[in-house]
Amino acid sequence: MIRIDMHTHIIPSWMPDYEEKFGYGGFIHLEHHKPGFARMMKGKQFFREIQSNCWDPKLRIEEYATHKTQVQVICTIPVLFYYWAKAKDTLEIARFLNDDIARTAMDYQGYYVGLGTLPMQDTALAIQELERCKNIGLVGVQIGSNINDRNLNEPEFQPIFEACESLGMAVFVHPWNMMGTQHIEKYWLPWLVGMPAETARAICSMIFGGVFERFPRLRVCFAHAGGSFLPTIGRIEHGYNCRPDLVAVDNAVNPRDYLGKFWVDCITHDPTMLRYVIDIVGEDKVTLGSDYPFPLGDLEIGAFIETMGLPEKTLEKIFCTNTKDWLDIH
Ligand SMILES: [Zn+2]
Repeated sequence: MIRIDMHTHIIPSWMPDYEEKFGYGGFIHLEHHKPGFARMMKGKQFFREIQSNCWDPKLRIEEYATHKTQVQVICTIPVLFYYWAKAKDTLEIARFLNDDIARTAMDYQGYYVGLGTLPMQDTALAIQELERCKNIGLVGVQIGSNINDRNLNEPEFQPIFEACESLGMAVFVHPWNMMGTQHIEKYWLPWLVGMPAETARAICSMIFGGVFERFPRLRVCFAHAGGSFLPTIGRIEHGYNCRPDLVAVDNAVNPRDYLGKFWVDCITHDPTMLRYVIDIVGEDKVTLGSDYPFPLGDLEIGAFIETMGLPEKTLEKIFCTNTKDWLDIH
């Protein structure tokens, strides 16, 4: 059985000094300070240390072989979304990152499948780059759970979803720019509490804003098993029933009706929770993901799923078929 990990991040081993090029700060560059390691730097400020498995495609293939996984779906690291920058600058960076991902997918066929990134803060430029992504062989795009604090139901994003649907480009929604970060910085809470909440925010915005109604053929997968959305679906449905005047103002469909219409990855770190997720969205809509190569990811690439006693048919769907369906890469 071929295994596809549909949630992995990659970065070019070198990036231009965008701070110098564009004349303002906030962009990431890499300092290769010792063999096999690099510091991601935001100007002079240290962001995160990464290892060569973040940029070396050959090494990644070797590491994946030890986890019986052949194919990696690669996308950029959300800190490189740069939705806050000038749109034309974000476009230039997106082109650089997308070209790098497309080249990796091309150079190592059968091992890598690529997702692009878009300047989502500018609808026209985002669609322009989306079309280019399709032309260079990427099969979808990764977008943030909010765009500069604007939710995904907002009108400016609808033409982008429409274009994704008509071009057949899959959408991967990844939490970033976590709400309330300034109030929860201690204990890594933006990652532990903020990220799951962000993903729920994105799913609710898309459901209540009618995105799935408007674009029924749009193929969307949400990171981290949909964050806190699925565990709180009972509350969300109850809110829809008891206060439709607040909840159902743009879409009259029960949120529970959308279960089974979008995909979620399996990153729960918890067999009981994953069993619940499979129960609630169906075994056709859960995909193998890891968040490799970052420490909060499942760096054994779904090994815990094999201990759950799931039927072989279900495992094959999670490990392979469901991702192919989401990406339409049969
Ligand atoms: Zn991730």
